[in-house]
Amino acid sequence: MSTDKLELTELLNHRIGQAKSIAILSHVNPDGDALGSALALYHYLRNSGVESKIVMPNDYPDFLKWLPGNENVILFSKKKALAKSIIVNADILFLLDFNVPQRSGKVEEFINASGAYKIVIDHHPKPGDFADFIYSDTLSSSTAELIFRMIELRGDPKLVDRIVATCLYTGIMSDTGSFNFNSSQPETYRVLAQLLKRGIDKDHIYSMVYDNFSESRMRLLGYCLDEKMVVVKKYKTAYLSLTIKEKKLYNYIRGDAEGFVNYPLSIKGVDFVAFFMENDDHIKISFRSKGKIDTNIFASNYFNGGGHVNASGGESKLNLTDTIKKFVSGLPEFMSG
Ligand code: 5GP
Ligand code: MN
Repeated sequence: MSTDKLELTELLNHRIGQAKSIAILSHVNPDGDALGSALALYHYLRNSGVESKIVMPNDYPDFLKWLPGNENVILFSKKKALAKSIIVNADILFLLDFNVPQRSGKVEEFINASGAYKIVIDHHPKPGDFADFIYSDTLSSSTAELIFRMIELRGDPKLVDRIVATCLYTGIMSDTGSFNFNSSQPETYRVLAQLLKRGIDKDHIYSMVYDNFSESRMRLLGYCLDEKMVVVKKYKTAYLSLTIKEKKLYNYIRGDAEGFVNYPLSIKGVDFVAFFMENDDHIKISFRSKGKIDTNIFASNYFNGGGHVNASGGESKLNLTDTIKKFVSGLPEFMSG
């Protein structure tokens, strides 16, 4: 395991040169960085004359489905047998945008069963030792940024065409909330400048991702903020929640609550936000924070989760009320520390 640059280049040249089947995987509930990185790598490999397959553990929001090559993505949740055989029979598995194998959900057991050479490319803190090679930079904005750097290290920047650049830009934009967080390193903007030189339409990309919701999603946001937001002034915290019933009432589809967690952060004096979403068999939780408040620690201590300093997630098997109680009971220690 190493992140040495020369080693990475040599290793990729050697491994990719010999591989007969390459599979690209990412984490459950794929986001813009997961999908953008995977598709960028897929198109880049194709531009260099190498075919690969993309497997995602489960489905993702419609606002990512316009990405070039989306139709080639195989969902494990829908095509288990095909997905399994691709993973198990691969020579190389690229594992993108996750730092612990559990983040790949039900795909994990097949990653473990695969004899493939496993390469992790990721930017989450504390990468686990679960691959043959790990290219990790926790200061990087996104996995997409790292994919670009990897391509450069291989001496292939010319193979980053408009399509590859569009996928990479979507990844960086998504993981930084449009350059709002995780984006203070000059390197990110050097990469972005390179992507812009490929003639991408950045305003169109923004619009496809953020201006593509239904009317009912907008009304659900209004309801959620007006009727469901609780502000705990003492601990500079706010939280939101949605029940299954409320989701049904607003014709909720996957992705509709994306970004809700960010809104309360714009309240003066609120530094920590949680969003609880009731699903059939678990509560999905998102955390966001300002400054040095490390949501990653809270998520892993209380809700078996993880992520970055200012954006993390986790899960709870308790019911919604008890999950929120557990959250509130953790605030005194976390927000006074
Ligand atoms: P989101 O709140 O947008 O789902 O996720 C924010 C960040 O937290 C992302 O970087 C994502 O990878 C991470 N994350 C979300 N849910 C989980 C989880 O259940 N476990 C871990 N380890 N990380 C998560
Ligand atoms: Mn990411």
